Amino acid sequence: MTIDGFQSLTLLDFPNKVGCTVFLGGCNFRCPFCHNAPLVEGERPSPAMTLEELHHFLTRRQGLLDGVCVSGGEPLLNPQLPQLLELVKGLGYLVKVDTNGSFPQRLVELWKSGLVDYVAMDIKNSPARYAETVGVPGLDLSPIRESVSWLLEGRVDYEFRTTVVRQFHDAQSFAQIGPWIAGAKRYYLQTFTHRDTVLRPGLSAWDGETMEGFAAQMRPYVSNVEVR
Ligand code: SF4
Repeated sequence: MTIDGFQSLTLLDFPNKVGCTVFLGGCNFRCPFCHNAPLVEGERPSPAMTLEELHHFLTRRQGLLDGVCVSGGEPLLNPQLPQLLELVKGLGYLVKVDTNGSFPQRLVELWKSGLVDYVAMDIKNSPARYAETVGVPGLDLSPIRESVSWLLEGRVDYEFRTTVVRQFHDAQSFAQIGPWIAGAKRYYLQTFTHRDTVLRPGLSAWDGETMEGFAAQMRPYVSNVEVR
């Protein structure tokens, strides 16, 4: 197994924890605002490290780091993810998995195996604009809905989050997302930032005041809502 990207220290990705982040390439979506185009399509970058090298790194960081974030791409696409998480958990680390919610059964299986402590799931948009927002015409939303429903049961700690892009999100988006995830613990609105690696050029962010307005729309439904 190869690891396609690696960040040796993150204070932001794992709530209230000090961690590192592992990126696994490949994704079933093509979100136009994706920052990780090299991981999603076209030529993958050279592998950042092997599983053995990650093991070596984590062994040396025991007691210094709390957890490992596994991101992508869509990490649940990788058939060797359980092997990676077993290595991480075997060294005593907490595990956070970032997912687009397409593979609820794989997520549940990882949780049943005790391999996941925290899940961050993207809510890409309202159901009405989901397919357009993820760049997959005719998308079947049922696995996404299943993941949302399972996370809302609260068996594993979690957050929902939306990267907010002016060209895809408006007040109507949040009028529909709110009731959909009603009762959720946490919801983060992430302001889109342009990078050279974004899949489609020409996208832009909303201003801070508008973002706060979207957050206010969500607060009747979710106890902890933040713009970040
Ligand atoms: S933003 Fe996430 S879900 Fe969308 S294409 Fe990029 S890696 Fe895949």
